[in-house]
Amino acid sequence: MNPPPVGEPSRSRLGETSRARHQIRVRMAPSPTGFLHIGSARTALFNWLFARHHNGAFILRIDDTDAARSTDASMREIYESLQWLGLEWDEGGEKGGPHAPYVQSERRDIYEWHVQRLLASGNAYHCYCTPEELDAIRAQSRAEKQNRAYDGRCRHLTQADKERFAAEGRKPTVRIKMPDAPIRVADIVLGTRDISPDTLEDEVIVRSNGMPSYNLTSIIDDVEMQITHVIRGTEHLNNTPKQIAIANALGLNVPQFAHIPLVLDNTGRKLSKRHHGTLVAVSRYREEGYLPAAMLNFVARLGWAFDDKQEIFSVEELIEKFELARVGKSGSVFDIKKLDWLNTHYIGKLDVAARTDAVIPFWEKEGIDVVAEPRERLESIVTAVGERLTKLQDIVPQTRYFFAAPTEYEPKAVKKWWKKDARDILTALGAVLEAVEPFELETVESAMWQYTEERNIKRVAAMQTLRIALTGTSFGPSLFDILVLLGRDEVLARIQRAIQFVK
Ligand code: GLU
Repeated sequence: MNPPPVGEPSRSRLGETSRARHQIRVRMAPSPTGFLHIGSARTALFNWLFARHHNGAFILRIDDTDAARSTDASMREIYESLQWLGLEWDEGGEKGGPHAPYVQSERRDIYEWHVQRLLASGNAYHCYCTPEELDAIRAQSRAEKQNRAYDGRCRHLTQADKERFAAEGRKPTVRIKMPDAPIRVADIVLGTRDISPDTLEDEVIVRSNGMPSYNLTSIIDDVEMQITHVIRGTEHLNNTPKQIAIANALGLNVPQFAHIPLVLDNTGRKLSKRHHGTLVAVSRYREEGYLPAAMLNFVARLGWAFDDKQEIFSVEELIEKFELARVGKSGSVFDIKKLDWLNTHYIGKLDVAARTDAVIPFWEKEGIDVVAEPRERLESIVTAVGERLTKLQDIVPQTRYFFAAPTEYEPKAVKKWWKKDARDILTALGAVLEAVEPFELETVESAMWQYTEERNIKRVAAMQTLRIALTGTSFGPSLFDILVLLGRDEVLARIQRAIQFVK
């Protein structure tokens, strides 16, 4: 048959390994069937760090041969999540590159060409078994305690058998013949293992509807795209010997493999969309206001450690220090408290201007019209909030009252602080604040203390009474910052409203 027109794989090119070219080439190969999973982000990060550490290339391939489940929206979300994390890729995605196309659904003719080679060399064969027959074979294998579910019976079909099945309307699959010798999997993280041939059945590489399987397309693309290292999660460990067998049958050099440990929840269960929902979606963390730097730092530590002390790593440091040799073998626990701790740290490191830029979209999302506000005031509000943000979205409940008077007063706070004398305190403070000149931090503060001393009122009681009147809650930034940021008129208006309420 004619070789495919796109990305034509010629013997000579395939014979030359990428290792001979001395450039590290790694890839991430998401299936666009949903959001970018934390585990996939971790795979992307480890590949990206490995590439950057070695001045190699990071390639984004889209594994979309499952047409029924793949969507453009998911592909976009994956691109956006990777871009948000700063894991820019050198080839692939919508970027293209020397091995384009990087989208598997556009590479069907390449797979088909290799399948024909496998059939021609006798390394693959058509299997005409129906699903019912396969069920029966599987049941029998189980009863006989065979490791392989499929017994390879279609290996021996005659031409006449095939014609008869075809005449019956059966659509064949294509299966690869697994070798009789063990398959050696040399894994950089897990070490070398020899996989016994009796655990490997003849794998379907093309389904009866003509769709090539993941194991076929993945290894062909890895070789075609001259990937030197396949770094992926251990959930693919069982696929690796199958992919090596396919590559061997095609006479292709296999890349090196590194399987990274599963990400688990705190009960030891694998983190999954099914059990954890959007908790595993990178986009969720973006929406809640985690910083990419915190997320990267957090995800890097899922299965990788530099030593047993260091927790905080800048991206530059990760690039410098990342080595596959320091990836652990056992599962790593996704601990949201640690992510929160890191995020607080990274938010704290932003200067006021950057922090203000970062929180503006969160205000806007909640309908707070910050465009109308002077930039200086926004920065002062952010300064007043100080270190109190775990996530950027926390800015909203913590500052809403700077933009609009509270519509209610927190019942718990009211019960605790608005005692019988609340009305008197508010009235007196109103008078004090009306008279103080100028209405600035120091003058306001000393006027308040003068009042509490003269009346022999506890400072905290006066401050909390006033704070609730102004903000509706008993927590928040310094009361004096709040007073000055609201301005005298607004303060007096809110005191009046609170007095009405106390009545
Ligand atoms: N599409 C596969 C996945 O998302 C890729 C696995 C691999 O890296 O080979 O799990």
